[in-house]
Amino acid sequence: MSFTNNHKNLMHVKERFENDHSLLKKISMTMNFLGSSSFSSSPIINIDQRAIVFDLSKGANIHNVPIKGLKIDEFSRLVEDAMYSENTGYGFGRWAEVREIYANEFFNSTVEGSNEKRDVHLGVDVFCQSGEDIFTPLDGRIHIKSNNKNELDYGPMLILEHSNDNDELFYTLYGHLSLASIANIEEGQSVVAGQKIAEVGAPPENGNWPPHLHFQLILELFSLGSDFPGVALSSEQEMWLALSPCPIMFFSDTYQSINSIHVNAP
Ligand SMILES: [Zn+2]
Repeated sequence: MSFTNNHKNLMHVKERFENDHSLLKKISMTMNFLGSSSFSSSPIINIDQRAIVFDLSKGANIHNVPIKGLKIDEFSRLVEDAMYSENTGYGFGRWAEVREIYANEFFNSTVEGSNEKRDVHLGVDVFCQSGEDIFTPLDGRIHIKSNNKNELDYGPMLILEHSNDNDELFYTLYGHLSLASIANIEEGQSVVAGQKIAEVGAPPENGNWPPHLHFQLILELFSLGSDFPGVALSSEQEMWLALSPCPIMFFSDTYQSINSIHVNAP
């Protein structure tokens, strides 16, 4: 998608978010559905209980090494060493974390004359080995299959469509997948909770990241499709964090805090 078209689409999102009351009502109903005691979901990845939580915020270190500006192999090795030293193969990256690892022009604002970079993480990351199985947590349909090839973009990705208890649609996004693992999946295909949908990819195919799943809840997709952002401008974070709220309900077996806002709250 071109820069200008993308900007137009983003303006449309803002306009609807500010003025479309039926959209706000749907968001609130879907949040009630996801937060209700009767909501249940299957595990997305079989994470062990020793999984650690990474701090990937501005100025963060892993084992005393600053993560900003690391080459992909150095970053991958650090992540892996940190998990293994805690005797786990899994680690979380937090929702709503403000990060400075999104360094290239792909994260520039589309607003003319703005120097702002997108830096607020809208999903939850699950770091693990490449090839790890990923399962759909809910019944639904494959809405989008794409390969977003920009450096540090999603790489191979899926967006699944689900219904709330009022038959209104919401979505879950799976980024940094292995291309081969989604070769036989088709848009429109139905999936049932617990069904394997993909495998975690490896760099450089996965957008050139250490192997991990980027999982994101999306309450309204608008016309953004596979360009729905996984990282937002800080100046627009209120809207984007409302459209992609903390998906903690999909990680109910997890005792760690994967919510960066709660961690940083006074
Ligand atoms: Zn992510």
